[in-house]
Amino acid sequence: MACEVLEGLKRFSLSEAEIVGVEIDEGDIVKSIWELGHNLFQFVFHEIEDKDKVFNNRVWSFDNQYLILREWVENMDVNEMDFSKMAIWIQIWNIPNHWISSEAGLKVGGLFTEVQDVFIPDSGIVKGRCIKLLALIDLAKPLLRGTHIRLGGVKWWVNFKYENLMGFCFYCGFIGHIERGCNQMNDDLKINVLKEGEFGEWLKAEESSFLHKGEN
Ligand SMILES: [Zn+2]
Repeated sequence: MACEVLEGLKRFSLSEAEIVGVEIDEGDIVKSIWELGHNLFQFVFHEIEDKDKVFNNRVWSFDNQYLILREWVENMDVNEMDFSKMAIWIQIWNIPNHWISSEAGLKVGGLFTEVQDVFIPDSGIVKGRCIKLLALIDLAKPLLRGTHIRLGGVKWWVNFKYENLMGFCFYCGFIGHIERGCNQMNDDLKINVLKEGEFGEWLKAEESSFLHKGEN
């Protein structure tokens, strides 16, 4: 399935003017973006702070496709690099108010590959409050729509919503293609067993400044 992501990212193309960045350094011109392969670019930062700024922002996209970043390590083999995981902000909704805590968020975050940040917005919006996670998700699996949480014998369904969700298939729930390019949908069409409404627009998180770190 990671290949499907790569297929999707094939649409990631930069004009020559965009891929060549130059920096004047003691009279020399230094190229700061190198094309290493198909849809594979190396970004060279001359200041560690610039690199940190880019990595701290975590989620990048270009032309409605995700740009997946990996930190360069000396002697790294580009053919061995793993682009199958991606960081994304996930909002956990429908949690009873008294269950909202970073600890609860981290436990729910155990469903994802890795939690990199947890954040509870101070203010709510009309429909209540949520917990936010910056988590690594596995692109080889469909998006998780939610999960059951249990507290003292009470079982409760919580919903996941994903911020800035794009390039996502409403049929199979994978990131990296849309319905038109969905192999699973084509296979199901052949045997006349189309599923309905399993994934959709409703997995996209609404934008609200109340939900952003440092803005509430
Ligand atoms: Zn699909």
